[in-house]
Amino acid sequence: MLPFIRSDLTQFAAYTPHPEASGETLPPAQWDRLDTNECPFDLPEDLKQKLAWTYQQEIEANRYPDGSHLALKQAIATYANEALADRSGFTAQHISVGNGSDELIRSLLIATCLGNGAAVFVADPTFSMYAILAQTLGIPVVRGDRTESDFAMNLETATAALCSSHSAPVRVVFVVHPNSPTGNRLTAAELDWLRQLSPEILVVVDEAYFEFSQTTLAPEVLQRPNWVILRTFSKAFRLAAHRVGYAIADPDLAAILEKVRLPYNLPAYTQAAAQVALAQRQLLLQAIPELLAERDRLQQALAAFPTLRLWPSAANFIYLRAQTEAATAQLAQTLKAQGTLIRHTGGGLRITVGTAAENRRTLERLQQILASRL
Ligand SMILES: *Cc1c(COP(=O)(O)O)cnc(C)c1O
Repeated sequence: MLPFIRSDLTQFAAYTPHPEASGETLPPAQWDRLDTNECPFDLPEDLKQKLAWTYQQEIEANRYPDGSHLALKQAIATYANEALADRSGFTAQHISVGNGSDELIRSLLIATCLGNGAAVFVADPTFSMYAILAQTLGIPVVRGDRTESDFAMNLETATAALCSSHSAPVRVVFVVHPNSPTGNRLTAAELDWLRQLSPEILVVVDEAYFEFSQTTLAPEVLQRPNWVILRTFSKAFRLAAHRVGYAIADPDLAAILEKVRLPYNLPAYTQAAAQVALAQRQLLLQAIPELLAERDRLQQALAAFPTLRLWPSAANFIYLRAQTEAATAQLAQTLKAQGTLIRHTGGGLRITVGTAAENRRTLERLQQILASRL
């Protein structure tokens, strides 16, 4: 190890997207990539052409991008207001934009825990990036668990973890609504628990799958300055290639996020793409009912396999387990050998809802694998 590097970093591996496919020879287009929860459809051809035109005619490649993101923030505030009863309340001051919501997670960690001995809380299984990013910053992670019947957080152990004097004091609680990888929305009991937390604890509600679940806790932000909502353009808006996410927060918190981010964190082309996607949201989000119908079909078909245990999903993916952890791992391996990538995580399998053809292939492959085991 290089002598000037922090010793705690030696234990981490660099993040590899599609780890199941690494070292394989198939080109990306030939895999069924059902492991990262993107929308299976690319932008429509005419929107891509519009973006190409924007690049040619409007973007000066030699100039720094707009570092204030003002136009994009205004468009996001308008979109966020659509979920509010009186359709107003959020302004550009409530929004901070990141290079993916991953960047915002890191900015939140820097703004709350870095260098002051504070910890974050996550209940497993959940999105792994909170703990990974915390640990790379040397921030301790306090872990809770979930009830296996519905993957709601175990609130007793969560409360105990937050009160424990053995660990650093928890300053941030991360939840995903609906949770990844398990697909469940926050329950009324979980919401009550989050609402009764001390105002000295930041509650991060990650709504990466908002457009699929159509339930948001954004209105809470107007009453609770210690709540922040994270969303992304990487899923329903089909812009994973562009890296753009946003926070909806109290203006004081949004201002802090602006202070800790990099000055030009969002390329000009990415800002343009996000604005085009928002302006065309009716068109882009039209695919959602179709994807949800595909999800329900997939779910029903999977329910016919007696050895699989399934949970309901409010998002664009399905979570399941085989009878044993070994059988679950084997299923992921065998699917991969046939060209379907899914995510093996949290002791189960998370399968992204793909195109109708991809979903059909997934079912056929599963059928074959499970039948050959009988
Ligand atoms: C996909 C996903 C994100 C998106 O991250 P980006 O950096 O915006 O691509 C964030 N949170 C969760 C829970 C996700 O599943």
